[in-house]
Order: sequence, then C-alpha cells, then structure tokens
Amino acid sequence: SWAGVPAGPPDPILGVTEAYKRSTHPKKMNVGVGAYRDDNGKPYILPSVKQAEESLAGKFDKEYLPISGLSEFTSLAAKLAYGADSPLVKEGKIAITQSISGTGALRIGGAFFQRHYPGVKAIYLPTPTWGNHIPIFKDSGLEVRRYRYFTPGEAVGLDWAGVVEDLKNAEEGAIVLLHACAHNPTGIDPTPEQWKQLSEVIKSKKLFPFFDMAYQGFASGDTTKDAFAPRYFIEQGHQIALCQSFAKNMGLYGERVGAFSLTASSAEEKARIESQIKILVRPMYSNPPVHGARIAAAILGDPKLNAQWEGEVKGMADRIIEMRNVLYDKLTHELKTPGDWSHIKSQIGIFTGLKPEQTKALAEKAHIYMTADGRISMAGLNSHNIGYFAECVDKAVRG
Ligand code: PMP
Repeated sequence: SWAGVPAGPPDPILGVTEAYKRSTHPKKMNVGVGAYRDDNGKPYILPSVKQAEESLAGKFDKEYLPISGLSEFTSLAAKLAYGADSPLVKEGKIAITQSISGTGALRIGGAFFQRHYPGVKAIYLPTPTWGNHIPIFKDSGLEVRRYRYFTPGEAVGLDWAGVVEDLKNAEEGAIVLLHACAHNPTGIDPTPEQWKQLSEVIKSKKLFPFFDMAYQGFASGDTTKDAFAPRYFIEQGHQIALCQSFAKNMGLYGERVGAFSLTASSAEEKARIESQIKILVRPMYSNPPVHGARIAAAILGDPKLNAQWEGEVKGMADRIIEMRNVLYDKLTHELKTPGDWSHIKSQIGIFTGLKPEQTKALAEKAHIYMTADGRISMAGLNSHNIGYFAECVDKAVRG
C-alpha cells in the first residue's frame, strides 16, 4: 500500500553526521552539525547543568507539565530574553509557552501566525538561512518568501543594500524572520547601527518582526549583548515574536528546552494569546518534556548558579573565537593560503567561505565533513585538529 511513497533525500545537515560516522579514516573530522565540542572534540556538559541536575535528583515526580510548560521556566526564560527590567516583563505583557527547543518554538509561532495573524500570511526569510526554516514555515501553512542577506565569493559579507532593498519592496503587512544573533549559516550579523535602520524599514512597511534567537550568549559570550536586537525593536515600539533555544547556550540539545513568546499590548491581550497557543499545542504534542526545563529553571533562578552559567557560556564563546584567530593566522601567515581570510575573524558562531568544489574535495580527500553550502562549524575545531584542518583547506584552495 506504500508502493507510491518515493524515497526522500537525507537531511542536508544531519546527513553529514551519517557520512562522518561511516568513515574509518583516523583523522576524520565532523564540522557539519553546529553542536559545541570541547578542546578534545567531545560533547560538553556544562558544570552548571551538572550541578543543577544533581540538586534536582530524586526531588520530583514524573507527572505531566501543563500545556504551556513549567511556569518557573517560562518566566525566567522571558527575563533572560527581554531583560529582568523590561516593562513588558513587569507588566505581564509577554505571552509565552515552553516549546520543544528552538525548532518547536518556530513551529508553534508559524502555526499561530497561520491561524491568527491579521496581516499577510507570508514570511520573508534571509538567503541563506538555517535550512530547516523553510520547511518549518511551509509546513505551518505560511507562504515562504526570501530577502537577500549575504554576498558570497570574494566579498564575503552582509549584502546590506540587498537587505534594505528587498525589505523595502516586501509586501506591506507580511512577516519577516530575523536571526537575533549569530546568523546561521553565515555568521554575519547586522551592526547595531544597521539594526536601527532595519527597525525603521520594518516599521515603515508594517512588517512583523519574528526573531529566532537560538544562540543567546553563544555569539559574544554575553547574554545581554546578544539580546540587543529584539530589545531594541521593543524599545522602538514594535510588537515582536521570539523563539528561544537552550540547546546551544546550556548545551541541552537533546533535552529540547525552548520557548515561544509574543509581546502583547496589555495583560488582557496576553491572556487571550496564551489561551490560543494552548489550543494549538494540545493537539500537536499535548505538553512539553519536563526534565530540561527544570534544569534551565534551576540555573536561571539561582543567582550563584546563573553567574556560573554565564561564565561557562563565555568560555564556550571564547574557545570558538580563539579557534577563529588560530585558523586565520595559520591560513594567512603560516601557509599563505591564497585569498582573504579576514571573514574568519569577523564572523560569529559559524562561518561559510568555501566553495562547493572545495567542500567536496575536503570530504573526499581529507575526510572532513561539512554541509554542502560550505558551512563549517567552528566548534568542531580544537587545538589537536586545527593544524590538519588548515593544511587541508590550503590544499583544497590551491586545487
Ligand atoms: N534556529 C537556528 C537558526 C538554529 O541554528 C537552530 C539550531 N541549529 C535552531 C533554530 C533550533 O535548534 P533546536 O531545535 O535544537 O533548539
């Protein structure tokens, strides 16, 4: 009865890990998936997470959470994103629900806009963007449109003129997706000055700013600094949607901890929105997983543990920045690899910069695996493998 079901392609990002696992080469490297690794290439459990988990052990039953999740967690997540001093937080104007990490937040957001948004049910995504954004919003029933974001080739960087022109030409009243920080996959963010201009353009076209914040703290090492864009938009009078993920900044990938929120114009509006979010979530997955939300709440809710966590986030961000500096020096000064590699230092989080044929050569000849668009996760580099990596890039570039 399923004879008509065609085989689908492997996931473009998770498929890289599968290819990596199949390889038996001793120097094989996986720089595909954007999960943090320590300097030995191993997954990293944050000490603050370990402590929180130990403090929770044996204290709780395994009962269901409410549809919107753990309320201690969502109120702390809102404070982290919007700022503890935010008037919206103080006045109870943030409608929020726990979500199945950032992906789930995006999906709930897509569904909410599809059902309730009174404007144009089309969302503009940057080109390029995180690959999963496209099916998430399509499957939510929104029309996906694009705006230019990135200049590839020699002049790697933000296509600022393209961003402004495309948003100025966007259909009035549509939705626009913005990566709050550490744009995936380019690693290039607007400057604070450019965010200010973006706020103006978005306002003038009555576009609805929909922020995806999957890397708060992971970009600069400072959670407040990384929340600049959504907070600035709110100051400027925008209503926003916001997706949060604790996968990266707490290393809680598989625990699936996140939140979706919308700013409301009154506490009464917030309550109406939340009631409709529950109506969407109940038939999707009923209620979210509990364990990771308890961990995140234990960290965010304890000033001492929270300070420790902030330090650990900075440690992860700093290690990546250090890898950027080392890789830049190796390519530019040691190997004198042809090309300008300065983007390696200026980009944030993850970077592209390799051409498809170079990417292919790295996989086939050097057993270095990354996504086909040339996105390299800097977290896959460490003091042990960066020399080999730089040499392989050098060879690939020289052809
Ligand atoms: N948005 C962006 C831009 C991402 O890079 C990711 C993770 N790769 C996510 C959302 C969501 O990830 P998760 O569902 O694991 O939180």
